[in-house]
Amino acid sequence: MSGTNHHQVLIVGGGSAGITVAASLRRRAPRALDIAIVEPAEDHYYQPAFTLVGAGVCPLARTRRQEASLVPAGVRLIRAAAKGFDPANNAVRLAGGETLSYDYLVVCTGVTLDWGKVEGLTATLGRNGVCSNYAPDQAPYTWDCLRALKPGSRAVFTQPPLPFKCPGAPQKIAYLAADHLRRAGHLKDCDLQFLTHAPTIFAVPFFARELVKIAARYGIKVHYQHNLVAVDGPARSATFERVGGERPGERVSVAFDLLHVTPPQSPPEEIRTSPLANAAGWIEVNQNTMQHVRHANVFSLGDVCSTPNSKTAAAVRKQAPVVVRNILRLMAGGGLDAGYDGYASCPLTTAFGKTILAEFIYGGKVTPTLPLDPAKERWLGWWIKTTGLPLFYWHYMLKGHEWFPRHNTAFEADAA
Ligand SMILES: Cc1cc2nc3c(=O)[nH]c(=O)nc-3n(C[C@H](O)[C@H](O)[C@H](O)COP(=O)(O)OP(=O)(O)OC[C@H]3O[C@@H](n4cnc5c(N)ncnc54)[C@H](O)[C@@H]3O)c2cc1C
Repeated sequence: MSGTNHHQVLIVGGGSAGITVAASLRRRAPRALDIAIVEPAEDHYYQPAFTLVGAGVCPLARTRRQEASLVPAGVRLIRAAAKGFDPANNAVRLAGGETLSYDYLVVCTGVTLDWGKVEGLTATLGRNGVCSNYAPDQAPYTWDCLRALKPGSRAVFTQPPLPFKCPGAPQKIAYLAADHLRRAGHLKDCDLQFLTHAPTIFAVPFFARELVKIAARYGIKVHYQHNLVAVDGPARSATFERVGGERPGERVSVAFDLLHVTPPQSPPEEIRTSPLANAAGWIEVNQNTMQHVRHANVFSLGDVCSTPNSKTAAAVRKQAPVVVRNILRLMAGGGLDAGYDGYASCPLTTAFGKTILAEFIYGGKVTPTLPLDPAKERWLGWWIKTTGLPLFYWHYMLKGHEWFPRHNTAFEADAA
Protein backbone atom coordinates (compact mmCIF):
# COMPACT_ATOMS: atom_id res chain seq x y z
CA MET A 1 0.00 0.00 0.00
CA SER A 2 1.15 3.55 -0.58
CA GLY A 3 -0.39 7.01 -0.49
CA THR A 4 0.07 10.23 1.45
CA ASN A 5 -1.76 8.95 4.52
CA HIS A 6 -0.17 5.51 4.60
CA HIS A 7 3.45 4.80 5.55
CA GLN A 8 5.40 1.61 5.84
CA VAL A 9 6.86 2.87 9.12
CA LEU A 10 5.11 5.59 11.10
CA ILE A 11 7.10 7.08 14.00
CA VAL A 12 5.17 9.11 16.57
CA GLY A 13 7.54 11.52 18.34
CA GLY A 14 10.69 13.00 16.81
CA GLY A 15 12.84 13.29 19.95
CA SER A 16 15.98 11.31 20.72
CA ALA A 17 14.28 7.99 19.95
CA GLY A 18 12.25 9.00 16.89
CA ILE A 19 15.13 10.57 14.97
CA THR A 20 17.53 7.75 15.91
CA VAL A 21 15.12 5.04 14.73
CA ALA A 22 14.35 6.87 11.47
CA ALA A 23 18.05 7.39 10.71
CA SER A 24 19.00 3.79 11.56
CA LEU A 25 16.16 2.45 9.43
CA ARG A 26 17.37 4.55 6.49
CA ARG A 27 20.89 3.17 6.92
CA ARG A 28 20.07 -0.49 7.50
CA ALA A 29 17.07 -1.18 5.27
CA PRO A 30 18.09 -3.09 2.16
CA ARG A 31 15.85 -0.80 0.07
CA ALA A 32 14.42 2.64 0.81
CA LEU A 33 11.43 2.46 3.11
CA ASP A 34 8.52 4.90 3.23
CA ILE A 35 8.98 6.42 6.70
CA ALA A 36 7.17 9.36 8.35
CA ILE A 37 7.71 11.09 11.70
CA VAL A 38 4.80 12.80 13.47
CA GLU A 39 6.19 15.61 15.64
CA PRO A 40 4.60 18.96 16.60
CA ALA A 41 7.70 20.72 18.01
CA GLU A 42 9.81 23.13 15.93
CA ASP A 43 12.91 22.57 18.08
CA HIS A 44 14.76 19.48 19.23
CA TYR A 45 16.85 19.67 22.41
CA TYR A 46 19.77 17.63 23.69
CA GLN A 47 18.21 17.36 27.15
CA PRO A 48 21.17 15.73 28.95
CA ALA A 49 22.96 19.09 28.67
CA PHE A 50 20.20 20.94 30.57
CA THR A 51 22.09 20.12 33.80
CA LEU A 52 25.12 21.91 32.35
CA VAL A 53 22.95 24.89 31.30
CA GLY A 54 21.68 25.16 34.87
CA ALA A 55 25.25 25.06 36.18
CA GLY A 56 26.46 27.78 33.80
CA VAL A 57 28.69 25.39 31.83
CA CYS A 58 26.80 25.36 28.52
CA PRO A 59 24.61 27.99 26.80
CA LEU A 60 21.05 26.85 26.10
CA ALA A 61 21.47 27.60 22.38
CA ARG A 62 24.05 24.83 22.11
CA THR A 63 21.45 22.25 23.20
CA ARG A 64 18.95 23.19 20.46
CA ARG A 65 18.58 22.31 16.76
CA GLN A 66 15.67 22.82 14.39
CA GLU A 67 13.71 19.58 14.27
CA ALA A 68 13.45 19.69 10.47
CA SER A 69 17.26 19.83 10.16
CA LEU A 70 17.57 16.46 11.97
CA VAL A 71 15.00 14.51 9.98
CA PRO A 72 16.93 12.16 7.68
CA ALA A 73 16.70 12.79 3.92
CA GLY A 74 13.82 10.85 2.42
CA VAL A 75 11.82 10.74 5.67
CA ARG A 76 8.57 12.75 5.77
CA LEU A 77 8.07 15.10 8.73
CA ILE A 78 4.40 15.56 9.64
CA ARG A 79 4.17 18.60 11.88
CA ALA A 80 1.30 17.53 14.14
CA ALA A 81 0.54 15.82 17.42
CA ALA A 82 -0.95 12.33 17.53
CA LYS A 83 -4.23 12.31 19.47
CA GLY A 84 -5.63 8.81 19.10
CA PHE A 85 -4.33 5.31 18.48
CA ASP A 86 -6.37 2.56 16.80
CA PRO A 87 -3.97 -0.38 16.59
CA ALA A 88 -6.71 -2.82 15.54
CA ASN A 89 -6.99 -0.82 12.29
CA ASN A 90 -3.31 0.22 12.08
CA ALA A 91 -4.33 3.85 12.37
CA VAL A 92 -3.26 6.99 14.22
CA ARG A 93 -5.48 10.07 14.47
CA LEU A 94 -3.82 13.49 14.49
CA ALA A 95 -4.93 16.51 16.52
CA GLY A 96 -6.29 18.14 13.35
CA GLY A 97 -8.55 15.15 12.69
CA GLU A 98 -6.55 13.55 9.87
CA THR A 99 -5.93 9.80 10.09
CA LEU A 100 -2.68 8.08 9.15
CA SER A 101 -2.22 4.37 8.60
CA TYR A 102 0.89 2.22 8.78
CA ASP A 103 2.42 -1.20 8.35
CA TYR A 104 4.64 -0.69 11.42
CA LEU A 105 4.21 1.85 14.20
CA VAL A 106 6.95 3.14 16.53
CA VAL A 107 5.72 5.19 19.50
CA CYS A 108 8.23 7.44 21.26
CA THR A 109 6.48 10.53 22.61
CA GLY A 110 8.52 10.88 25.79
CA VAL A 111 6.93 11.89 29.10
CA THR A 112 4.75 14.77 30.28
CA LEU A 113 6.15 17.10 32.96
CA ASP A 114 3.39 17.46 35.56
CA TRP A 115 4.19 20.90 36.99
CA GLY A 116 0.52 21.26 38.00
CA LYS A 117 0.71 18.31 40.41
CA VAL A 118 2.68 20.48 42.88
CA GLU A 119 0.36 23.12 44.31
CA GLY A 120 1.53 26.67 43.55
CA LEU A 121 4.48 25.58 41.40
CA THR A 122 3.28 26.81 37.99
CA ALA A 123 2.58 30.29 39.40
CA THR A 124 6.10 30.73 40.75
CA LEU A 125 8.35 28.70 38.45
CA GLY A 126 11.07 30.97 37.04
CA ARG A 127 10.63 33.51 39.87
CA ASN A 128 11.25 33.80 43.61
CA GLY A 129 14.25 31.45 43.42
CA VAL A 130 12.15 28.53 42.09
CA CYS A 131 13.99 26.91 39.18
CA SER A 132 14.19 23.66 37.23
CA ASN A 133 16.59 22.15 34.71
CA TYR A 134 13.75 20.02 33.33
CA ALA A 135 12.43 22.61 30.85
CA PRO A 136 14.69 24.41 28.39
CA ASP A 137 13.18 27.83 29.06
CA GLN A 138 13.75 27.32 32.81
CA ALA A 139 17.29 25.88 32.95
CA PRO A 140 19.14 29.24 32.51
CA TYR A 141 17.29 30.60 35.57
CA THR A 142 18.87 27.85 37.71
CA TRP A 143 22.26 29.41 37.02
CA ASP A 144 20.90 32.89 37.90
CA CYS A 145 19.65 31.49 41.21
CA LEU A 146 22.95 29.71 41.96
CA ARG A 147 24.90 32.91 41.40
CA ALA A 148 22.54 34.79 43.72
CA LEU A 149 23.35 32.51 46.71
CA LYS A 150 25.21 34.30 49.52
CA PRO A 151 26.58 33.24 52.91
CA GLY A 152 23.55 32.25 54.97
CA SER A 153 21.46 31.12 51.95
CA ARG A 154 19.61 27.82 51.84
CA ALA A 155 19.35 25.84 48.57
CA VAL A 156 16.83 23.00 48.39
CA PHE A 157 16.77 20.29 45.68
CA THR A 158 13.79 17.97 45.16
CA GLN A 159 13.29 14.54 43.60
CA PRO A 160 9.79 13.22 42.72
CA PRO A 161 8.48 9.63 42.70
CA LEU A 162 9.87 7.32 40.01
CA PRO A 163 9.56 6.97 37.11
CA PHE A 164 11.01 10.23 35.81
CA LYS A 165 13.64 10.87 33.17
CA CYS A 166 17.29 10.81 34.14
CA PRO A 167 17.03 9.70 37.76
CA GLY A 168 20.46 11.19 38.49
CA ALA A 169 19.63 14.72 37.32
CA PRO A 170 18.00 15.99 40.56
CA GLN A 171 21.20 15.35 42.54
CA LYS A 172 23.68 16.26 39.78
CA ILE A 173 22.68 19.91 40.05
CA ALA A 174 22.91 19.74 43.86
CA TYR A 175 26.58 18.67 43.62
CA LEU A 176 27.39 21.32 41.03
CA ALA A 177 25.68 23.95 43.19
CA ALA A 178 27.74 22.84 46.20
CA ASP A 179 30.94 22.90 44.18
CA HIS A 180 30.07 26.38 42.87
CA LEU A 181 29.67 27.56 46.48
CA ARG A 182 32.90 25.82 47.49
CA ARG A 183 34.78 27.65 44.76
CA ALA A 184 33.21 30.95 45.84
CA GLY A 185 34.28 30.22 49.44
CA HIS A 186 30.67 30.15 50.73
CA LEU A 187 29.95 26.43 51.06
CA LYS A 188 30.35 26.18 54.83
CA ASP A 189 28.14 29.26 55.31
CA CYS A 190 25.24 27.91 53.19
CA ASP A 191 22.69 25.21 53.95
CA LEU A 192 22.10 22.65 51.16
CA GLN A 193 19.30 20.09 51.37
CA PHE A 194 18.28 17.29 49.02
CA LEU A 195 14.78 15.93 49.62
CA THR A 196 13.85 12.81 47.70
CA HIS A 197 10.74 10.67 47.47
CA ALA A 198 12.99 7.58 47.37
CA PRO A 199 14.31 5.63 50.37
CA THR A 200 17.89 5.70 48.99
CA ILE A 201 19.98 8.29 47.18
CA PHE A 202 20.24 6.21 43.97
CA ALA A 203 18.56 2.97 42.91
CA VAL A 204 21.83 1.11 42.18
CA PRO A 205 23.52 0.37 45.55
CA PHE A 206 27.05 0.27 44.08
CA PHE A 207 26.74 3.94 43.05
CA ALA A 208 24.55 4.94 46.02
CA ARG A 209 27.44 4.07 48.37
CA GLU A 210 29.68 6.63 46.63
CA LEU A 211 26.98 9.28 46.28
CA VAL A 212 26.18 9.25 50.00
CA LYS A 213 29.86 10.00 50.66
CA ILE A 214 29.90 12.80 48.08
CA ALA A 215 26.79 14.45 49.55
CA ALA A 216 28.43 14.24 53.00
CA ARG A 217 31.67 15.72 51.64
CA TYR A 218 29.74 18.85 50.63
CA GLY A 219 27.66 18.86 53.81
CA ILE A 220 24.42 18.35 51.81
CA LYS A 221 21.67 17.14 54.15
CA VAL A 222 19.76 14.30 52.50
CA HIS A 223 16.15 13.67 53.55
CA TYR A 224 14.65 10.44 52.20
CA GLN A 225 10.94 9.73 51.60
CA HIS A 226 9.98 13.38 51.31
CA ASN A 227 7.77 14.38 48.37
CA LEU A 228 7.29 18.00 47.30
CA VAL A 229 3.55 18.80 47.33
CA ALA A 230 3.32 22.61 47.44
CA VAL A 231 5.39 25.75 46.88
CA ASP A 232 4.69 29.27 48.07
CA GLY A 233 7.09 31.35 45.97
CA PRO A 234 6.61 34.80 47.55
CA ALA A 235 6.94 33.28 51.05
CA ARG A 236 9.91 31.16 49.84
CA SER A 237 8.48 28.07 51.48
CA ALA A 238 8.26 24.50 50.13
CA THR A 239 5.97 21.87 51.64
CA PHE A 240 6.89 18.18 51.60
CA GLU A 241 4.88 15.14 52.55
CA ARG A 242 6.59 12.25 54.29
CA VAL A 243 5.95 9.06 52.28
CA GLY A 244 7.41 6.56 54.73
CA GLY A 245 9.18 6.34 58.04
CA GLU A 246 7.43 6.81 61.38
CA ARG A 247 5.03 9.59 60.40
CA PRO A 248 3.84 8.97 56.81
CA GLY A 249 1.51 11.68 55.53
CA GLU A 250 2.98 14.32 57.84
CA ARG A 251 3.69 17.66 56.12
CA VAL A 252 6.94 19.55 56.64
CA SER A 253 7.66 23.11 55.44
CA VAL A 254 11.17 24.11 54.43
CA ALA A 255 12.24 27.73 53.83
CA PHE A 256 14.49 28.29 50.81
CA ASP A 257 16.43 30.90 48.89
CA LEU A 258 16.80 28.55 45.92
CA LEU A 259 14.40 25.67 45.19
CA HIS A 260 15.39 23.38 42.31
CA VAL A 261 12.36 21.29 41.39
CA THR A 262 12.32 18.06 39.42
CA PRO A 263 8.64 17.81 38.46
CA PRO A 264 6.55 14.62 38.73
CA GLN A 265 6.30 12.91 35.34
CA SER A 266 3.78 10.68 33.61
CA PRO A 267 2.85 9.25 30.22
CA PRO A 268 1.18 11.81 27.90
CA GLU A 269 -2.64 11.69 28.14
CA GLU A 270 -3.08 10.44 24.56
CA ILE A 271 -0.81 7.51 25.41
CA ARG A 272 -2.32 6.77 28.82
CA THR A 273 -5.81 6.58 27.37
CA SER A 274 -4.83 4.54 24.31
CA PRO A 275 -5.27 0.78 23.80
CA LEU A 276 -1.47 0.53 23.67
CA ALA A 277 -1.01 1.45 27.34
CA ASN A 278 -0.55 -0.82 30.35
CA ALA A 279 -2.43 -0.21 33.60
CA ALA A 280 0.06 2.49 34.61
CA GLY A 281 -0.32 4.27 31.27
CA TRP A 282 3.01 3.37 29.61
CA ILE A 283 3.20 1.69 26.18
CA GLU A 284 3.31 -1.99 27.02
CA VAL A 285 6.24 -3.65 25.30
CA ASN A 286 8.40 -6.72 25.84
CA GLN A 287 11.40 -5.55 27.84
CA ASN A 288 13.96 -7.25 25.57
CA THR A 289 12.44 -7.00 22.05
CA MET A 290 10.64 -3.62 22.48
CA GLN A 291 7.66 -5.15 20.61
CA HIS A 292 4.17 -4.37 21.86
CA VAL A 293 2.74 -7.26 23.84
CA ARG A 294 -0.61 -7.29 22.02
CA HIS A 295 0.15 -5.75 18.60
CA ALA A 296 3.05 -7.38 16.77
CA ASN A 297 3.54 -4.49 14.32
CA VAL A 298 3.86 -1.88 17.08
CA PHE A 299 7.12 -1.02 18.86
CA SER A 300 7.96 1.56 21.50
CA LEU A 301 11.16 2.86 23.05
CA GLY A 302 12.48 5.77 25.05
CA ASP A 303 10.82 7.40 28.02
CA VAL A 304 7.22 6.46 27.13
CA CYS A 305 7.62 2.69 27.02
CA SER A 306 6.99 0.32 29.91
CA THR A 307 10.47 -1.25 30.17
CA PRO A 308 11.82 -0.97 33.72
CA ASN A 309 15.13 0.63 32.79
CA SER A 310 16.30 4.07 33.81
CA LYS A 311 14.70 6.57 31.39
CA THR A 312 17.72 8.05 29.60
CA ALA A 313 18.99 8.91 26.12
CA ALA A 314 21.66 6.28 26.79
CA ALA A 315 18.88 3.68 27.00
CA VAL A 316 17.46 4.95 23.72
CA ARG A 317 20.88 4.43 22.10
CA LYS A 318 20.72 0.71 22.95
CA GLN A 319 16.99 0.26 22.35
CA ALA A 320 16.88 1.84 18.88
CA PRO A 321 19.05 -0.78 17.11
CA VAL A 322 16.84 -3.54 18.59
CA VAL A 323 13.66 -1.84 17.31
CA VAL A 324 15.18 -1.29 13.86
CA ARG A 325 16.51 -4.84 13.60
CA ASN A 326 13.15 -6.26 14.65
CA ILE A 327 11.11 -4.21 12.17
CA LEU A 328 13.46 -5.28 9.35
CA ARG A 329 13.34 -8.90 10.51
CA LEU A 330 9.52 -8.91 10.60
CA MET A 331 9.45 -7.38 7.11
CA ALA A 332 11.72 -10.19 5.93
CA GLY A 333 9.62 -12.83 7.70
CA GLY A 334 12.24 -13.58 10.36
CA GLY A 335 12.20 -13.91 14.17
CA LEU A 336 12.83 -11.23 16.76
CA ASP A 337 16.04 -10.11 18.43
CA ALA A 338 15.66 -9.96 22.22
CA GLY A 339 18.85 -7.96 22.61
CA TYR A 340 17.93 -5.05 24.88
CA ASP A 341 19.25 -5.81 28.37
CA GLY A 342 18.02 -2.70 30.18
CA TYR A 343 21.21 -0.71 29.62
CA ALA A 344 21.13 2.85 30.87
CA SER A 345 23.80 5.32 31.75
CA CYS A 346 23.82 8.32 34.03
CA PRO A 347 26.91 10.52 34.02
CA LEU A 348 26.75 11.86 37.59
CA THR A 349 28.41 15.27 37.65
CA THR A 350 29.81 15.36 41.18
CA ALA A 351 31.92 18.55 40.76
CA PHE A 352 33.06 20.92 38.01
CA GLY A 353 35.56 18.68 36.22
CA LYS A 354 34.44 15.39 37.85
CA THR A 355 31.87 12.79 36.87
CA ILE A 356 31.01 9.22 37.87
CA LEU A 357 29.92 7.35 34.76
CA ALA A 358 27.16 5.12 36.13
CA GLU A 359 26.22 2.39 33.64
CA PHE A 360 23.91 -0.47 34.54
CA ILE A 361 21.32 -2.90 33.17
CA TYR A 362 18.13 -4.54 34.45
CA GLY A 363 18.37 -5.55 38.09
CA GLY A 364 20.83 -2.74 38.85
CA LYS A 365 23.79 -4.79 37.58
CA VAL A 366 26.79 -2.51 37.04
CA THR A 367 28.12 -2.75 33.46
CA PRO A 368 30.92 -0.28 32.68
CA THR A 369 32.02 0.32 29.10
CA LEU A 370 35.51 1.53 30.02
CA PRO A 371 38.00 -0.78 31.81
CA LEU A 372 38.19 1.57 34.81
CA ASP A 373 36.73 1.50 38.33
CA PRO A 374 33.18 2.84 37.66
CA ALA A 375 32.77 4.14 41.22
CA LYS A 376 35.49 6.76 40.82
CA GLU A 377 34.93 10.44 40.02
CA ARG A 378 37.04 11.27 36.99
CA TRP A 379 37.90 14.15 34.72
CA LEU A 380 37.53 11.74 31.79
CA GLY A 381 33.87 11.24 32.73
CA TRP A 382 33.41 15.02 32.84
CA TRP A 383 34.93 15.34 29.34
CA ILE A 384 32.65 12.55 28.09
CA LYS A 385 29.59 14.27 29.61
CA THR A 386 30.37 17.83 28.49
CA THR A 387 32.05 17.23 25.12
CA GLY A 388 32.10 13.61 23.97
CA LEU A 389 28.46 12.66 24.40
CA PRO A 390 26.97 15.83 22.81
CA LEU A 391 29.19 15.33 19.73
CA PHE A 392 28.29 11.65 19.70
CA TYR A 393 24.57 12.48 19.93
CA TRP A 394 24.33 15.04 17.13
CA HIS A 395 26.81 13.52 14.69
CA TYR A 396 26.61 9.76 15.29
CA MET A 397 23.50 8.55 17.12
CA LEU A 398 21.00 10.87 15.39
CA LYS A 399 22.63 9.98 12.06
CA GLY A 400 21.76 6.32 12.57
CA HIS A 401 25.24 4.96 13.37
CA GLU A 402 24.97 2.08 15.77
CA TRP A 403 28.41 0.66 16.47
CA PHE A 404 29.70 1.22 19.99
CA PRO A 405 31.98 -0.74 22.38
CA ARG A 406 29.89 -3.16 24.42
CA HIS A 407 29.29 -2.54 28.09
CA ASN A 408 30.86 -5.21 30.31
CA THR A 409 28.12 -7.49 31.62
CA ALA A 410 30.73 -9.71 33.33
CA PHE A 411 31.87 -6.90 35.65
CA GLU A 412 31.83 -7.98 39.31
CA ALA A 413 30.67 -4.93 41.25
CA ASP A 414 31.40 -6.44 44.66
CA ALA A 415 34.98 -7.28 43.69
CA ALA A 416 35.72 -3.69 42.58
C1 LIG B 1 17.43 17.67 33.02
C2 LIG B 1 17.62 16.41 32.23
C3 LIG B 1 18.84 15.74 32.28
C4 LIG B 1 19.02 14.56 31.58
N1 LIG B 1 20.25 13.96 31.64
C5 LIG B 1 20.46 12.84 30.92
C6 LIG B 1 21.77 12.25 30.90
O1 LIG B 1 22.71 12.73 31.52
N2 LIG B 1 21.94 11.11 30.16
C7 LIG B 1 20.94 10.57 29.44
O2 LIG B 1 21.17 9.57 28.76
N3 LIG B 1 19.67 11.09 29.45
C8 LIG B 1 19.43 12.21 30.17
N4 LIG B 1 18.17 12.79 30.14
C9 LIG B 1 17.03 12.04 29.60
C10 LIG B 1 16.92 12.05 28.08
O3 LIG B 1 16.92 13.37 27.60
C11 LIG B 1 15.63 11.33 27.69
O4 LIG B 1 15.62 10.07 28.30
C12 LIG B 1 15.52 11.15 26.18
O5 LIG B 1 15.44 12.41 25.55
C13 LIG B 1 14.31 10.28 25.83
O6 LIG B 1 14.08 10.28 24.45
P1 LIG B 1 12.57 10.13 23.89
O7 LIG B 1 12.72 10.20 22.41
O8 LIG B 1 11.90 9.00 24.53
O9 LIG B 1 11.83 11.44 24.42
P2 LIG B 1 12.10 12.94 23.98
O10 LIG B 1 13.51 13.11 23.52
O11 LIG B 1 11.62 13.78 25.11
O12 LIG B 1 11.18 13.16 22.71
C14 LIG B 1 9.79 12.97 22.69
C15 LIG B 1 9.22 13.72 21.48
O13 LIG B 1 7.87 13.34 21.29
C16 LIG B 1 7.13 14.49 20.93
N5 LIG B 1 5.71 14.27 21.25
C17 LIG B 1 5.12 14.32 22.47
N6 LIG B 1 3.82 14.04 22.37
C18 LIG B 1 3.59 13.80 21.05
C19 LIG B 1 2.42 13.46 20.32
N7 LIG B 1 1.24 13.32 20.90
N8 LIG B 1 2.53 13.29 18.97
C20 LIG B 1 3.73 13.43 18.37
N9 LIG B 1 4.86 13.75 19.01
C21 LIG B 1 4.79 13.93 20.34
C22 LIG B 1 7.77 15.61 21.74
O14 LIG B 1 7.52 16.88 21.17
C23 LIG B 1 9.25 15.23 21.67
O15 LIG B 1 9.91 15.82 20.58
C24 LIG B 1 17.96 14.02 30.80
C25 LIG B 1 16.75 14.70 30.70
C26 LIG B 1 16.58 15.89 31.40
C27 LIG B 1 15.26 16.64 31.27
